[in-house]
Amino acid sequence: MGAPNSKAQYKRQAKVVMMGLDFAGKSTLLYKLKRNQTVETFPTVGFNVESLETDSHVSLTIWDVGGQDKLRPNWKEYLEDTDALIFVIDSSDEARLENATTELLAVLNNDFMAGVPFLVLANKQDVPSALTIDELVAKLKLEDYNDRPWEIKGCSASTGEGVAETLNTVGKLIKQRKHL
Ligand code: GDP
Repeated sequence: MGAPNSKAQYKRQAKVVMMGLDFAGKSTLLYKLKRNQTVETFPTVGFNVESLETDSHVSLTIWDVGGQDKLRPNWKEYLEDTDALIFVIDSSDEARLENATTELLAVLNNDFMAGVPFLVLANKQDVPSALTIDELVAKLKLEDYNDRPWEIKGCSASTGEGVAETLNTVGKLIKQRKHL
């Protein structure tokens, strides 16, 4: 490979998958992320693919795969070549947290996700009853994931708090993995 001769060639393309139970806030987050970002949409793929630029020159493609039960047979198609997972949690929905924990484990145990770093976005932190980050670390058993870089961040897609930092956190996780 010759030296890159244009900015476009120089840019590293990263594939990031965003997942979470329905109602976690993925669509709202995506909408907030798209503001102040360069967005390209590829409508031919059959589901939402958004390309976003971070200031660390990592291009992130967010695949909003929505309800996973339907999609599980097609996980290969969605998860192959993934560089990072964003797993969105409704921090105020304690009743479905166990379900979310099971889903996260299932995704990360998929062969295509071996060693892939992940960011848990503890969304809806604006809700007074929202669980704290410490509580979520324990309930999601995040300490058990010592085979890859991971991070958990609180945010509110409604107020926008913590949303802008998301892409840079993911960019950092991807770089950490490369240095492992
Ligand atoms: P999705 O199914 O994961 O795409 O979730 P949506 O983005 O459709 O959000 C589900 C519901 O939660 C909607 O009524 C949103 O307005 C609401 N919601 C999303 N993010 C937040 C948040 O940070 N705080 C609060 N209070 N509500 C939120």
